[in-house]
Formats: sequence, structure tokens, C-alpha cells
Amino acid sequence: MTATEVPQTPSFQLDAIGATIERLRSTVRSGESRTFEWRDRQLDGIARFCKENTKQLTKAMAEDLGRPELEAWIADIGPSISEAEYLKKNYRKWAAPRKVSVSLAVQPAKAEVLPEPLGVALVIAPWNYPVNLVLEPMAAAFAAGNTVVLKPSEVSPATSGFIASRLPDYVDTNALAIYEGGVDVSTALLAERFDHIFFTGSTNVGKVVMRAAAEHLTPVLLELGGKSPVIVADDVDIEVAASRIAWGKGLNAGQTCIAPDYVLVRRERRDALVAGIERAWTDFYGKNPRKSRDFGRIVSGRHHRRLVSLLNDQTVAVGGDHDENSRYLAPTIVIDPELDSPLMTEEIFGPILPVVGVDDLDDAVDFVNERPKPLALYVFSDDAAVSDLVLRRTSSGGACVNHTLMHFSPHDLPFGGVGPAGMGRYHGKAGFDAFSNLKGVLKKPTKGETNLLYPPYGRVTSKLIKKFT
Ligand code: NAD
Repeated sequence: MTATEVPQTPSFQLDAIGATIERLRSTVRSGESRTFEWRDRQLDGIARFCKENTKQLTKAMAEDLGRPELEAWIADIGPSISEAEYLKKNYRKWAAPRKVSVSLAVQPAKAEVLPEPLGVALVIAPWNYPVNLVLEPMAAAFAAGNTVVLKPSEVSPATSGFIASRLPDYVDTNALAIYEGGVDVSTALLAERFDHIFFTGSTNVGKVVMRAAAEHLTPVLLELGGKSPVIVADDVDIEVAASRIAWGKGLNAGQTCIAPDYVLVRRERRDALVAGIERAWTDFYGKNPRKSRDFGRIVSGRHHRRLVSLLNDQTVAVGGDHDENSRYLAPTIVIDPELDSPLMTEEIFGPILPVVGVDDLDDAVDFVNERPKPLALYVFSDDAAVSDLVLRRTSSGGACVNHTLMHFSPHDLPFGGVGPAGMGRYHGKAGFDAFSNLKGVLKKPTKGETNLLYPPYGRVTSKLIKKFT
């Protein structure tokens, strides 16, 4: 299949979506998906799928995104295996009843939170990390005892097609249904009643998903996008900051939801930072990144044209070369961008990095706070007082001090957005909880009955109740 062909779910399968969802729901209702053996099998299946198909998945991502082999591993295949294995190792303790204390007024009693599966989860995925952003949410759903309907992205058809054809061999066929296709398929799925929707994609489509979910009052977890800023403080080694920013922007050719979108640095240090980032890119990709096997491509001609148009009327200080045929766009730095231009108002999602000169740290913090809350924020400073101040005075889904992207990685660090960058958290226990109904249960013995609570309410009863509740 070529990158321009969009795989489609046949219409007869779409007609039967309701019946498929009911089939998946009955796996949950029967209690089968609550057994630890069943959950172990699905999580093992995900890890085995990645291990046994590493070559094919790497090839598919190279076709879709020109993805370098190691980047396919470190950003998609490796983390999917490690998350499935981590969940398998830990979900039993998260699934166990969680004891909570009970006030005197309700004694004698025991109280606990009893996690239970929600049911059938719809997972809608984007194209930029087309393995990881499918498998990690799916693993969390399975760990919590749910079944999954998956809609991978039509924009990465080689990867989507491979997953649709091979993944079902590794998991229970009553646990997973995959529907390939674009907006029409998503729309047909969203008309159905699910028990949870996990959506990763753009903020605009997130609104469409939430509207559709409202119809059935289905809970949503929205992993959306935005413009993630980098603040480089005065005290930090500019070469180190430059390399780490260059790496975060270069990975997957900048097509990363938490890629540094733009950089704020004091005006006097701007040129040194720009030179440092350029040097780092040259070290990584050589003088001509087009020839580098380690630099990816833009996912489609449409996305390439949008990125190139962002450069209109801007001052390009580094890079800027592009070629639509090979979907190549050089790592590029823009200085003094027009602040009301699309480059500075839309999520960039490609290898273009505006570097904006500011007066000082306060000015940088104000710059961030005057704009929608971002998915990630990066601050570079060796002075903990400075980075803490930035963290306290700004709001973002997540943050990373003195590096970029890395906060995505730890299993126990909940990942997600805030405001227009999304809602809800996943990874590790946060993902398990997101796909669970955390049922609050109070258990009372039948012995030791007191009539205190029952009418008629006398004066003594009333006094006692007010004292102890
Ligand atoms: P997108 O919103 O265009 O598409 C995401 C999914 O929604 C795809 O499967 C697509 O088929 C489907 N879709 C598209 N239009 C739809 C509609 N009108 N109705 C229903 N479904 C629709 O996003 P994308 O271009 O695939 O991905 C890029 C975006 O995703 C960026 O904004 C990026 O920041 C964000 N993203 C966020 C995270 C995160 O973890 N927060 C991770 C990766 C990407």
C-alpha cells in the first residue's frame, strides 16, 4: 500500500458495529475479562506482538514517516512493550480493594474502593506515534479488565494496516475490534454507546469527540495538542540546553505532541542559543539533514504544505529547505516571529522552531500565561529556585526541567493535558484508574443494630447525631 491510500473498513462491518460492541461487552459482563489470567494473556499478547513484529512495525513506520530505526524503537515499540510488562507486573495490586477509613458516625462498618472495569472502551489514535499511542491506552484498558474498539489513524496507513491485520492474532478476538478509516469511520463509531472513550489527537477533533460522548454521557480521556514552550534561563549552560532542545524538536521531525513548540530566551542570549541549536542539529544530522538516515519525514503532502506555509513572511535563521516530493523539511529556526501569525498561534507539529527574545524571566512567564495552557512546558535552569518559580507560576499538562520529552517516559508519572491540551491522565496506575470505575463500597454487619438513625427523632438522638456526624 502506498502512503496515499487510506485503508477503509468495509461498510458491512460498519453496519454491524452495534453487534460487535455488544459482543465485546458480553466478554466484560461474563466476568471473563476480570480474571487475572485473561488480563495477563492480553498484556502478554501486546508485548509479544511488538517483539515478534519489530521489523515489520519499524518498516511500516519508515514508510509512513521516514522514521529512523532507532526512533521507531525508542518512541514506539520499546515503550509499548515496557508499559504492557509494567502493567502486568503491577495491576493486581491496583485491582485489589483499597481500604479507606470510616468515621465514627457510620461505625461499625468497613469501606473500600473496589476498582471494576468500565466495559467497552473506544480508542481513537493519531498518526505520529502510530504504535505507541494505540498500544499503551489499549494495555491500560486490558489491565483494568475492559475490552477495546480501536480506530487507528488513516494518515499512517502502513502502520495502521499492519496493526489491523496482525494484532488480532495476539489478543482475545472477543476483546478487540479494529476499524480502519478516517472521519466517516470515526463518526460512525462515535454514534455508538461506549463505556469509555480514549482519544488522542488535535484539540479541534477533541471537541467533536466530547460532543458525541455527551450524547451517551460516556466518560472521555482526551490527550490533545498545543504549543509547548521552552524557557531558557540565564544561568544555564547554553550548549547543553541547545542540544536537548534540538533533540526534542528533531525526534520524529518535530511531529510530537510534546515537542518544544517555541523557545523563550533573554534577547541578549538569543543568538548564542540559535547557534547552539544549529550546531547540535549539524552534529546529529550532518551538514545536509536530507541525507541523514536519522532524520524523519513529514507524514503527508498536505501536512508538508501546511508546515511550509507557516514560514511565509518569517525570518528564517537556520534551515528552511524543503521538498514536497520527498516530504522533507529541514530542521528550521525562525527568529522574531510575528506573534499573531499561524506560526505562533497554531501548534507547529513539525521541525520548525521559533526562538523569541524576551526581557527577562517574568516576561517569559507572562508570555506563556497569556496563551492557552500547553500540554508540556520545559524550563532550563540549574537554579532550583528559578525552575520552581516557573513551575509554580505557569500551568501545563506536564513539565520537564532541563530536558525535553523525557517526562513521557516514567511509568509512574501520570501523563496528560490541562485546558485545551486535554483532560485525564494515563501511564501506569493512572491509566489503570482511568479505565476503571472506582466503586466506593461500604460494608456493615447486621449485628449490633442501633435505632439511633431512625425516626421519630428525639432530643437525645438529635444531640448525639450532631455531635458525631
Ligand atoms: P486528528 O485530531 O486529526 O486525528 C486523530 C484521530 O481522530 C484520527 O484517528 C482521525 O481519523 C480522527 N478524526 C479526525 N477528524 C475527525 C472528526 N472530525 N471526527 C471524528 N474523528 C476524527 O489528529 P492527528 O493529526 O492524527 O494528530 C495530531 C494531533 O494529535 C496534534 O494536535 C498532537 O498534538 C495531538 N497528539 C496528542 C498527543 C497527546 O498525548 N496529548 C499525542 C499525539 C498527538
